[in-house]
Amino acid sequence: MTRKNRLRRSLAPRLRFLADQITEKGLCTRPGADPGHWFPEKEPGGNAATKRRAYEQAAAARCFGCPVRAECQEAALAEEADLASKKLKPHGIRAGLAPWVRADMIRNDASESASENEETAA
Ligand code: SF4
Repeated sequence: MTRKNRLRRSLAPRLRFLADQITEKGLCTRPGADPGHWFPEKEPGGNAATKRRAYEQAAAARCFGCPVRAECQEAALAEEADLASKKLKPHGIRAGLAPWVRADMIRNDASESASENEETAA
């Protein structure tokens, strides 16, 4: 079993727990919530900084007050961690975060981990 598969297997129970929490308590999973609000049809592309900022503010507002936002963020970052290696991108709003914000967080985590590994190996 590869290191990646071992990691995935060890994360599985935690991810199931987080998914249950989100399903049970998330604002977006409540009866009557429109899933389309968390997956806006058009995400701003390119360097449209103003559009991106507006999207980020709307994302934060969409999830404001959700009781499982921390759990949602943990699940999103774990589930989306290997999308880039598959040349895929995250979509939609999760944990009040725009997809490119989550992708940046994942990249930063990965580079911090790499730096720590280099320091440990030295
Ligand atoms: S933080 Fe947002 S996306 Fe996550 S469960 Fe709550 S409402 Fe849904």
